[in-house]
Amino acid sequence: MQLTCHFLPQNDGRCGWYETLPPPPASAPLQGEVKADWVVLGAGLAGLAAARRLAELQPNAAIALVDARRVGFGAAGRNSGFMIDLPHDLNSHDYTGDRSRDFEQIRLNRGAIDYMREIVQRHGIDCDWREQGKLHGAVEAHGLRALEAFAKGLSALGEPYSELDAQQMKAITGSDFYHAGLHTPGCVQVQPASLVRGLGATLPENVRLYEDSPVREINVGQPHTLVTDQGRLEAPRLVLANNAYAAQFGQLGLKGRILPVYTYGSLSRQLSPKELAALGGEESWGLIPANPMGTTVRRMGDGRIAIRNSFTYNPHVSTSASRLARVRGAHRCSFERRFPMLPDVELEYTWGGALCVSRNGGTPFGELVPGVFSAVCQNGLGLTRGTISGKLIAEYALGVESELLDIMLKQPKPAANPPEPLLGLGVRSTLAWKEWQAGKEL
Ligand SMILES: Cc1cc2nc3c(=O)[nH]c(=O)nc-3n(C[C@H](O)[C@H](O)[C@H](O)COP(=O)(O)OP(=O)(O)OC[C@H]3O[C@@H](n4cnc5c(N)ncnc54)[C@H](O)[C@@H]3O)c2cc1C
Repeated sequence: MQLTCHFLPQNDGRCGWYETLPPPPASAPLQGEVKADWVVLGAGLAGLAAARRLAELQPNAAIALVDARRVGFGAAGRNSGFMIDLPHDLNSHDYTGDRSRDFEQIRLNRGAIDYMREIVQRHGIDCDWREQGKLHGAVEAHGLRALEAFAKGLSALGEPYSELDAQQMKAITGSDFYHAGLHTPGCVQVQPASLVRGLGATLPENVRLYEDSPVREINVGQPHTLVTDQGRLEAPRLVLANNAYAAQFGQLGLKGRILPVYTYGSLSRQLSPKELAALGGEESWGLIPANPMGTTVRRMGDGRIAIRNSFTYNPHVSTSASRLARVRGAHRCSFERRFPMLPDVELEYTWGGALCVSRNGGTPFGELVPGVFSAVCQNGLGLTRGTISGKLIAEYALGVESELLDIMLKQPKPAANPPEPLLGLGVRSTLAWKEWQAGKEL
């Protein structure tokens, strides 16, 4: 079976998290003929975790980890940095859903946070790791209703939270935009690009990382062969950790079940001491909108403000300069609504990144065909779900049993989507409708 990678990761937009780091050392692209025991495609959250776990469990095996670009350049380094422990169903109006499934999501998410915390501490990875929980903020009546429903859902799950009124929200954020809020304590916030770069730099010795090596073709067989511009990689076992780019692999049953969706981030310049005084509030906080279609905001310890909103359907897993310009305008409005006291603070960086979602929140986790394992489709929650999918796919492939693996294997498979053009029409109109409904929460 031959898989062709028609859609490859682009060099689209300047991601503020990545660009504000020092340049990385030179990369080592794949060259010539290389043989390995395992190959992991994609050095994002899932791929880094899968390669690390395979190496931990099989210290004598040769593990190749291949990425089209530098570690931290893809969505793993472009996200808003919330390692979310609680249910986070983007399809629902308040993030929660079926009770027993929510319990399972919490177990998986906390398993990921524990694994990541241990790695970050052991290797001293400098990624602004903050165990400060997250805020949820509401502005309009429907946002307040979503917040109430979320609080009810948390009570039913026995999860702690504190309710905040408008004044308390202002004391934390400096903004009087939010009418009510809620704080949940278990979320960890990170600088995502420095986290994943740190993960890439501290891989076990038996992992060889090949960056700047777009895989153009995969021949699935015994062994599998991955072809790049300058090399070929052979391995009997392949782990797919290539996020939404896996949606083009129709022969593996992924096309038509998983969907590439984009969301977008911006990062402001650093605020001056005078601007920080005008803003007020706490030195570092992160806020998720009560309505999942609203705006995520973070104030970073270095005095920058990060904004995230807008979802688009991108079947070619790419975006355009004109789309980024439109999104930048939307981010500007969101910024001004929240921070009228900061009229001259420009957004220095704006970028987009891919999410891989399925209609029912299901996952194609498992062995797709003999020797090809899938750790793709994190349904918008890559920092935790990507990490745990990667760790558990390694354990699954090596026959290591655990309660978390049982939970992962119980997750539903992705539901089939209608064919194009119905799919595109449906997804675009649903996103537009939900975004319109989000109103001022944007
Ligand atoms: C703006 C934004 C904000 C977000 N905020 C959050 C958040 O706060 N919390 C959260 O949990 N999630 C968030 N996400 C989602 C999260 O970033 C993704 O879910 C996560 O990165 C997916 O992890 P992954 O390992 O599956 O894929 P990725 O991190 O995308 O890794 C896949 C890798 O595969 C590589 N690849 C693909 N095709 C090829 C090929 N042919 N050859 C070689 N390499 C290839 C890519 O270069 C990429 O590095 C956000 C996303 C965005 C864009």
